[in-house]
Amino acid sequence: MLQKTDTIENSPLSMEDLEIPEPGPNQVLVKEIACGVCGSELNMIQGDWMRFGSPPKLPVVPGHEIIGRVFEFGENVDGIRSGQLIGMQYLWDSCGKCNFCLSGNENMCSKASVTGETVNGGYSQYILGNQKHIYQIHDGVDPLKNAPMMGAGITAFRSVKNLGPIEGKTVAVVGAGGIGKMAIQFLKLYGARVIAVSRSEMNRDLSLDLGADDTFDPGQNYEFAGKIRRSADCVIVFAPSDIAVNAALQICRKMGTVVLGVYATIRDFRFTDEIRISGTLIGSIADANEAISLITKHKIRVDTSVFSLSSANEALMKLKQGEIKGRAVLQI
Ligand SMILES: [Zn+2]
Ligand SMILES: [Zn+2]
Repeated sequence: MLQKTDTIENSPLSMEDLEIPEPGPNQVLVKEIACGVCGSELNMIQGDWMRFGSPPKLPVVPGHEIIGRVFEFGENVDGIRSGQLIGMQYLWDSCGKCNFCLSGNENMCSKASVTGETVNGGYSQYILGNQKHIYQIHDGVDPLKNAPMMGAGITAFRSVKNLGPIEGKTVAVVGAGGIGKMAIQFLKLYGARVIAVSRSEMNRDLSLDLGADDTFDPGQNYEFAGKIRRSADCVIVFAPSDIAVNAALQICRKMGTVVLGVYATIRDFRFTDEIRISGTLIGSIADANEAISLITKHKIRVDTSVFSLSSANEALMKLKQGEIKGRAVLQI
């Protein structure tokens, strides 16, 4: 449980005994099997995003990449059997009434509840889920390998969708960590030519294994980005730095699209190139269902390093040091 924001070394998560929650109407109690460890949790835990209102409450149990089995039902829950394997994502609930919800963009709902932020999340043995925001998963899916699809996978899927049609286009992915590598696989599935732009040799090599057509080493400060200036029709950025985002704007062709999955301060924006910039935030209910179906059908993968629940702090520290190859997953 996160008690106060500080560096993970100074203020590690605490282990607490909590009551097993009772599912209310339209809710299920989920017995967890696995929960992914996401970089955004580290930002929340360390207070990097306080100016954006994160964390919205304390104390809170983090975690939003969850796979488990339905253990108990509240009233009015139907269509799900006990023991059913399900996934839960960042979006815990949405109002169902606003224009965003009504247009199928629940991830934009201002009244949304957020797993691991406004409600207790997945670093826990049990979690309450909302019938509307739980996702059925085939029994053959390995939760320890696939928990990251509930966060990184859905996020990568929507970022690719936000590019618009990409068949035959060249797309650069700046930042080939866990989300970037999943984006590369979706891009290949949709027929794009993919350039993985990463400072890490390991991630460039892994990107090629996952189907990237080409890789580029931009240099530690993205000082070589100019060498591939205007070489991509579209660029997706998951590298969390201003220099990466500004490099992406150089790499993008005139009238191209840049999708940002990170906060950034943009400088020297050439309006004369008519480049479009779009944000991307996790995914809607439809995105989640489609991402899960594509990931499980096409075996879209990400390497996972498994830690026990009681080793969550160790996983977060390794993530901070850049020592996690793909995504860390807590076995629960
Ligand atoms: Zn996440
Ligand atoms: Zn809404």
